Amino acid sequence: MTFPLIDQLQQEIARLDALGLRRRRRTAETACAPQVRVDGRRVLSFNSNDYLGLAADARIAAALQEGVRLYGAGSGASHLVSGHSRAHEQLEERLADFLAPHLVQPRALYFSTGYMANLAVLTALASSAPNETEIFSDALNHASIIDATRLARAKVTVYPHADVAALAAALAASTAQQKIVVTDSVFSMDGDLAPLPALLALCEQHGAWLVVDDAHGFGVLGEHGRGALEHFNLRSPQLVYMGTLGKAAGVSGAFVAAHETVIDWLVQRARPYIYTTASPPALAHALLTSLDIIASREGQQRRAQLELLRHQLQGMPVRAGWHHLASETPIQPLVIGSNADVLAAAQALDAQGLWVSAIRAPTVPAGTARLRITLSAAHTTEDVARLLAALQELAAAA
Ligand code: PMP
Repeated sequence: MTFPLIDQLQQEIARLDALGLRRRRRTAETACAPQVRVDGRRVLSFNSNDYLGLAADARIAAALQEGVRLYGAGSGASHLVSGHSRAHEQLEERLADFLAPHLVQPRALYFSTGYMANLAVLTALASSAPNETEIFSDALNHASIIDATRLARAKVTVYPHADVAALAAALAASTAQQKIVVTDSVFSMDGDLAPLPALLALCEQHGAWLVVDDAHGFGVLGEHGRGALEHFNLRSPQLVYMGTLGKAAGVSGAFVAAHETVIDWLVQRARPYIYTTASPPALAHALLTSLDIIASREGQQRRAQLELLRHQLQGMPVRAGWHHLASETPIQPLVIGSNADVLAAAQALDAQGLWVSAIRAPTVPAGTARLRITLSAAHTTEDVARLLAALQELAAAA
């Protein structure tokens, strides 16, 4: 028996397969760490966003258990009904204090995911000036920002990646009453940094908001781990900061930190905040311990270890036509080009017991498929030496 609707989907999936674009998940059987067992095999992973090596930290896991003892498993409702707990409140206070050097009259709001936080910020800000808002978005922004701009029902202008002059021209040409510039701080598939000081200067000149998605900077950048704002030493009431808590912080969720009035507006109007069940309070409770570690001397040591490993990767062996995007962050992509070649490279590494993801379109532009190598403070210099040796072999096997 055939089902036409199912047949159509199967044809589409077969087409993706033929293009080298079919996605497959691999199943990890152990905690997130450099050494993991995946689909029954032990491999060395350069593949997570667990930059500080906290995802499997015993102290955070114990805090999570304590959170479960204190608050149970579920929150029971959305934040505005009855799901907002003391743990959420404490986390928000701690986050606002942590980011205070960079914001004016700050408050923070905890979200279930960074994806939802981005949807919330752009839709809610745009809804404060319906038909009068223009959003200026970097061409390489994360998918959640792209989706947020679509949902915001505002005019959207995409400016070329990190192109300050193009953005300046677009802002000058805009007649919108409310202008919002939105950018990743660390571009997730390239690892490079947005020119935030220049972007903020433009936003101040044009009375625009600057929404910064610091998913890959929070906990990693800055002496105290406060992220991109600390790295660049920025402070402004026009900054709306989004940090995620499932990457360097090792748990789950995200937050927006901004002037208290912005946060109040999000609580009034952000549908991805209002119309969803609050995440388990135990997660927020565990995140208090993550924040302690991020802000401590140990956090600094973990960031120093990341720097050491990053320097070790410089001068990575490459084949002609490959391009190592040697960024200032733990994201160290190796651009290979075609889907077939990047899949072959990932397979060759896999044969040596190394797990590195092959990233293809539409996550990155077609023809720039890449190995997204990510470092964690939990890696050792021996781990990185193993990766370098494997890449050497791959580069030589032309
Ligand atoms: N922004 C960026 C730049 C990201 O890389 C990600 C996650 N990959 C997100 C937002 C979404 O965060 P979350 O995973 O918490 O939904």
